[in-house]
Amino acid sequence: MKSKNIEFQSVVRPNIWNLQPYSSARSEKLDYLEKQVVLLDANENPFGEYNRYCDPYQSKVKQILSKVKQIPQQNIFLSNGSDEVIDLAFRIFCQPLVDKAVVLRPSYGMYKVYGDIHQTPIVEVNLEQDFSLSDRVVQEVLQVQDAKLLFICQVNNPTGNLLDTDLIQKLIQEFQGIVILDQAYIDFAQKPFLQDSFLCCNNVIVLQTLSKAWAGAALRIGMAFMDQELVEIFNKVKSPYNISQVNQEKAIEVLQNSNFVKQTTQWIIDQREFLSQELALLPLVKKVYPSDANFLLVVFLDATKVYNALLDKGILVRDRQGVKPGALRISVGTPLENKLVIQCLKNL
Ligand SMILES: *Cc1c(COP(=O)(O)O)cnc(C)c1O
Repeated sequence: MKSKNIEFQSVVRPNIWNLQPYSSARSEKLDYLEKQVVLLDANENPFGEYNRYCDPYQSKVKQILSKVKQIPQQNIFLSNGSDEVIDLAFRIFCQPLVDKAVVLRPSYGMYKVYGDIHQTPIVEVNLEQDFSLSDRVVQEVLQVQDAKLLFICQVNNPTGNLLDTDLIQKLIQEFQGIVILDQAYIDFAQKPFLQDSFLCCNNVIVLQTLSKAWAGAALRIGMAFMDQELVEIFNKVKSPYNISQVNQEKAIEVLQNSNFVKQTTQWIIDQREFLSQELALLPLVKKVYPSDANFLLVVFLDATKVYNALLDKGILVRDRQGVKPGALRISVGTPLENKLVIQCLKNL
């Protein structure tokens, strides 16, 4: 991939560029001290187990993550769920009511919600009918004036498809602002595309999470891979202790258990194929979209009826009729849960 270097000052809001961050960083000072430290600097209770403020930069988690992902530690930013990175991105790059953000449609709804919260005009560019990226989509994105952020969801939610890597690279090369490549579901795809694209193109932020394949949704750990200078900007804007001590400890446990993730990811992929084939055989199913994620977008003859029938049996799926007429999004469950869905639909 051709390299690309933008001047961050041209995309970061002036008030953020000039921001003097809160200086809490005890950890920096601890490095200079010998082992016997008397901590009287942070108004903590000297008694208790979780009485001390935690590492604001989560160095231990990053150290392990760096090995797992083969990404240099200084290029990692950790967040309270990946949604925090999306929120911070608007705060860092988009002057409210002035700078725009581009999202593809259909895609993950939170991009627009955060844009609305920050009063950032959102320009939605439609993907093709089959939800693919095309030259036409790329051209429309590149025509948007004053765009500071572009969100690309790879693998796309709720459609489940991968977007063309060459066209994503074209967008990275030619988009004038920051490209956020949201890879929440990438572990379910064939290979980790573009995971280190930020190394050659400093306008890319790769977003991953412990919430999906890593089975850690309740831990709220998002991971963003980006240029070191950008990590520093994110660090000064985030809340100082954005990931709690308990969550950091649990994240380390999760990351050390990558065999569990590999194993269950393969099971989920196998179950996805089972579910997809079984669904496709049912007369009330019009179409099952191919998926590189842990969910299926399925078009039914009567989605509302199916949704309610499943709900009646205590099975909750996601109504996506707003995205595509007749569509429900079904996450892949355990073998038993998936059979239950099929059984229930057969009885309809
Ligand atoms: C689930 C999901 C995330 C993850 O959000 P967390 O805040 O990390 O739980 C991010 N992006 C997309 C597209 C998702 O579907």
